[in-house]
Amino acid sequence: MMTFFEKQTNPLDQAHHMGNLMVDNMYTSGTAGKKFFTHLKENDTFLASRCKKCGTTFFPPRLYCEDCFIEIPEEDWKEVPAQGTVRLFTIATLNTFGEKLDEPKVIGMIDIEGTDGAMLGYIETDETNKDLIGSKVKAVLREKKDREGTVKDIRYFQVL
Ligand SMILES: [Zn+2]
Repeated sequence: MMTFFEKQTNPLDQAHHMGNLMVDNMYTSGTAGKKFFTHLKENDTFLASRCKKCGTTFFPPRLYCEDCFIEIPEEDWKEVPAQGTVRLFTIATLNTFGEKLDEPKVIGMIDIEGTDGAMLGYIETDETNKDLIGSKVKAVLREKKDREGTVKDIRYFQVL
């Protein structure tokens, strides 16, 4: 007999139904995220926030330092260039549905200059055989008139 306290390690031991569900998700960027994207809509730079106590510069910016448990006030937010260095990258040949892409896409983790943070982004390059780790890249943004204040305003990163 199973009790509520019995450790269950295999979900298939329970009554189950196998299948796929299509689920729509909505993610809100929060107060700091909204400030970041509002800035990006009108500027060609990123915003970061710096904890005065430990010196960590957060990218994406945060309202609080999770290590020091202190608020990061307005005056400790700063503009940083929309560029950075490729920390790691991969080359995708399939889309999220497992279908083959017409062209491979390079996706990288970019350490954003002047911060301790990073972001994922597409990297445009003609040289898919090249080791991009350590390459300097710059964000290519949508035209200002077309920006929506979302992550899609960052079209891709271009190798400098
Ligand atoms: Zn801190």
